[in-house]
Amino acid sequence: MPQNLNMFSLEGKTALVTGANTGLGQGICAAYAGAGANVIGVARRSCQETADKITAIGGNFTELIADLSDINVIPHIVEEAGKAYGRVDILVNNAGIIKRCDAVDVTMEDWDAVINLNEKMVFFLSQAFAKGWAADNKGGKIINIASMLSYQGGIRVPSYTASKSAVMGLTRALANEWARYNINVNAIAPGYMATNNTQNLRSDEQRSDEILSRIPAGRWGTPEDITGAAIFLASDAAAYVHGFTLAVDGGWLAR
Ligand code: NAD
Repeated sequence: MPQNLNMFSLEGKTALVTGANTGLGQGICAAYAGAGANVIGVARRSCQETADKITAIGGNFTELIADLSDINVIPHIVEEAGKAYGRVDILVNNAGIIKRCDAVDVTMEDWDAVINLNEKMVFFLSQAFAKGWAADNKGGKIINIASMLSYQGGIRVPSYTASKSAVMGLTRALANEWARYNINVNAIAPGYMATNNTQNLRSDEQRSDEILSRIPAGRWGTPEDITGAAIFLASDAAAYVHGFTLAVDGGWLAR
């Protein structure tokens, strides 16, 4: 690797990525392994497909099955992650759900499900790792997955908008407190990406056309599209980047 690119290497680091079995989380896991990191993938279900992708490139991957809708799983995650490769250096809060429904019909159950995973878990899992990082003084990286709905209201997804707006706010709030410990807290705001999350939108021809015609790049994003930003924010190259949400959106926010 050319010397000036070494700052992007994740060699010798360990990354824990939530929601590792599909979509953007799977893409980030594979990219981190390719950049040299040991990767721990947290998911409710088997991450075999992710594991296969990483094995194919000679990387290290450990799966950790946990249901992130309940914050009581956090001590188990921290303990198991420590057993896998020793210290975790990078946390990617990627797992998230979306519930589409007119605002007048949203149930408390659906509201809580979205907020618990997309917002409460992001905060308390970050807190759990940051406690250890502040104590051992070796720093750490937190990368939260935000959304276009961290900036905009969206349509028929009020709980999701609330949670992703909170993710951008938390990214700033935690950076303010933890930058002094060499902990970089940043976020990536993906635009409209072709994953399970947008399956319903993409199969609604009218909404799909409306969205596509508004994206300057003229296409849906892919998991690979966010991997450059994810590697950058996890690497030494981002040492002085704190509290920022980087949009990877094909130009959506520029419109
Ligand atoms: P996805 O549905 O494929 O991924 C969501 C992941 O979260 C899955 O791996 C799923 O297993 C995991 N997950 C859900 N509930 C869980 C639980 N209770 N416990 C453990 N894991 C759980 O969709 P995606 O697009 O890859 O979503 C990844 C992240 O990106 C989410 O936070 C999503 O909100 C965000 N995002 C996606 C888009 C997009 O256009 N696809 C845009 C902006 C933000």
